[in-house]
Amino acid sequence: MSVQPLDAVATTPPIAEEARRDVPGFVLSGDRRMWIGGTWVAASSGLTLSNTDPVTEEPLATVPRGDAADVDAAVRAAKKAFADPAWAAMTPDRRGRVLHQIADVIEQHAEELATIDSVNMGAPRMITRNMLAEASEIFRYYAGWPTKLFGTQVPTRDNRLAYTRREPLGVVGIIWGWNGPMGQLPGKLAPALAAGNTVVLKPAETASLSTLRLAELLSYTDLPEGVVNVVTGRGDEAGQALVAHPDVTKIAFTGSTATGKHVQRTATETLKHVTLELGGKSPSVVFADANLEQAARGVAAGFLGNAGQACVSTTRILVQESVREEFTALLKKAMTTVFTPADSLSSGTVVGPLSTKAQFDRVSSYLELAVREGANVVTGGTRYGDHGYFIAPTLLDDVHPDMRVVREEIFGPVGALMTFTDVDDAIAKANDTEYGLAASIWTTDLSTAHRVAAAVQAGTVWVNTWGEMSTGSLPFGGYKQSGLGREGGLEVLDAYTQSKAVVVAL
Ligand code: NDP
Repeated sequence: MSVQPLDAVATTPPIAEEARRDVPGFVLSGDRRMWIGGTWVAASSGLTLSNTDPVTEEPLATVPRGDAADVDAAVRAAKKAFADPAWAAMTPDRRGRVLHQIADVIEQHAEELATIDSVNMGAPRMITRNMLAEASEIFRYYAGWPTKLFGTQVPTRDNRLAYTRREPLGVVGIIWGWNGPMGQLPGKLAPALAAGNTVVLKPAETASLSTLRLAELLSYTDLPEGVVNVVTGRGDEAGQALVAHPDVTKIAFTGSTATGKHVQRTATETLKHVTLELGGKSPSVVFADANLEQAARGVAAGFLGNAGQACVSTTRILVQESVREEFTALLKKAMTTVFTPADSLSSGTVVGPLSTKAQFDRVSSYLELAVREGANVVTGGTRYGDHGYFIAPTLLDDVHPDMRVVREEIFGPVGALMTFTDVDDAIAKANDTEYGLAASIWTTDLSTAHRVAAAVQAGTVWVNTWGEMSTGSLPFGGYKQSGLGREGGLEVLDAYTQSKAVVVAL
């Protein structure tokens, strides 16, 4: 079969005209400003960046194209706020209450922020609403921590009092992706603030609008000026300047593995603390004893959720040989019924468009590559409709482990189906990747589930489910080239604090 990703194969999903009447003007038009030191400013260069609605292909509001000069102003504001007693001497219980206030404003404006993200980057509202619900919960989880970040008294010599203090790092730079603006930020911003740091945020250039609106909402809380600053702009300008800035102590980064490596190299020059949440090529492993209908829906969600633009997408589908045909039929049915692409704002939409034209072109080229590499297209393989950046949910089989479509992160609604014979073969194939972010296992056998969960090299393993995240209490991060460090759980507080030893002669 020849694949022509740029040809339409279905009627364009209708535009949800009624839902679009309620879209906030904030996202639709105008020139937004950046938030630096408690003031709204344009880029010092005067330049702006455009945004496009991926469903309608209409232009949206512009954002400033901040550069090194703007980053420097934001870092200076954050450094000043870090030393200011308004923040530095704020009592832990008061800081906890400020985090609760942030949770409150997010809750009160969740629908608005979710809609801004859905229009700006195309994720269905079902997904962006979930992200906002989790966002406020994450701030509430960390609101309990400032009062519990204590050091210890350490026994040394009789005439000495030795103790440790747990102190914030200073100015933290936070850089993250366009695929979940309000999903990825809270797991970094909330612990950074809970620990008493100040921050400079650099959202993705194509999905900055919700962050700017959030900054506006934060200005209604008791957060002192300069504690949170936002610089919008390109990764290779504003992002690069933030990572290189000598007064930034830590970088918390979410993005591709290639950019993550570059960030780490740059940060080494000034010996910054770095945590990296990177890409994946995660497996779904379906055993013959699984509830196959349930597994088919879960596996489809695993690589079609957010149109496949999720770091935890389980895009390598490993099925036990004996149920290959039955499972493939069930999966295809789920893909073509439940997961039909539609306007991000229509109610019930589970798959929207790809976020940008660049991402659409990138995924299209992978579909062409799949056919050149000899894969069979079971379903999809083309553009969906003739307007908007929609790609049809795509299943490939007849693939082998060396194909680029099996090894590389496509970041679109594309899954590759392969088979395995037994548990050992499943584990070997699941681990045959340079990534290690997530895995889902589908089986009714308890012992198989735990054996595979232990053996899979991945930071998160789901059994008979996919994509469930904690709202702060579970660690999240990657094995191998999927990342460095963890978000969530107790470990993340180490990533935003440093210990000081104090020895007193008595
Ligand atoms: P990129 O790596 O392209 O960009 C991520 C962020 O880094 C953006 O804000 C980008 O800015 C910025 N950036 C780009 N170049 C530089 C630079 N030289 N210095 C500093 N910052 C820079 O990733 P994508 O936005 O394409 O996001 C998709 C990737 O993110 C996928 O690989 C996905 O798997 C991964 N991801 C990982 C998650 C995890 O938790 N492990 C969660 C979600 C996604 P700009 O946009 O302006 O270029």
